[in-house]
Amino acid sequence: MRGLEGKRALVTGGSKGIGLGAARRLLEEGCRVAICSRDRSALLDAVSAVRPLEPHTIVCDVGDSGAVDAAVAETVGTLGGLDILVNNAGIFIPGDAVDLDDATWGKVIAVNLSGAFYAARAAARVMIEQGTGGVIVNISSVNALPGSPESVPYDASKGGIQAMTGSLASELARHRIRVNAVCPGLIWTPMVWSGGEPREQHEKWAQRHTLVQRLGEAEDIGAAVAFLASDDASFVTGTHLVVDGGQLAKM
Ligand code: NDP
Repeated sequence: MRGLEGKRALVTGGSKGIGLGAARRLLEEGCRVAICSRDRSALLDAVSAVRPLEPHTIVCDVGDSGAVDAAVAETVGTLGGLDILVNNAGIFIPGDAVDLDDATWGKVIAVNLSGAFYAARAAARVMIEQGTGGVIVNISSVNALPGSPESVPYDASKGGIQAMTGSLASELARHRIRVNAVCPGLIWTPMVWSGGEPREQHEKWAQRHTLVQRLGEAEDIGAAVAFLASDDASFVTGTHLVVDGGQLAKM
């Protein structure tokens, strides 16, 4: 894709799943990439998984704004600047809304929504200072659109991501910073397989509920992220790209 060679990118939650898929694709497109997550050993596993590509790793909890500021500063110090932020780190804690405790609500919002804001704010400050524009890609979800049961804090956090994407795009356009979201459907990642149901069960679900009749893979989202980050998307900002195999279209 055009314009990615040599760009400097930070992918939050880049140690696994969709974040690792996005990091891998950006590396393959010639970007220099930093990935962050909370777990040092998972980050080292990610480095092994993409070898001979070489992402820089940073331990960071995105729910901590000071840690996010430090991660962005480390990215700039190591890569020489920052052109692309992929706001991907996220958690999902299922449960009925009426049984939800304050701590669970707060934790999901802190990581999925506040974390994305902290990273966007820190990255935008750097991009504005650099004066060469930039791109922010927020990983939202199809859950932000129709909503689903047992998923209130998660869906609310993703709804917030949708709104924040438009607000940031409006505010940052004058600095030539584009801001978009990707709304993945069901993607086979540790977040999904940690639920304990086997892959075959999810494949059967995907056959019934998507138009393309297959489960999504991290590379499907990595491709969408690379497109939005590239100059091929220079006329795209303030919107979202649904990458769900036709799940919403089938509803
Ligand atoms: P995974 O659980 O597989 O990976 C999540 C990544 O985020 C890991 O690298 C994890 O590392 C990191 N992470 C979690 N909490 C934090 C934190 N507080 N600070 C920093 N990093 C953190 O999830 P997916 O790859 O499935 O999901 C990635 C994104 O895509 C999420 O925003 C999710 O909501 C979204 N999404 C996923 C879908 C799916 O079907 N898989 C569908 C729609 C959207 P660690 O835990 O070590 O910190």
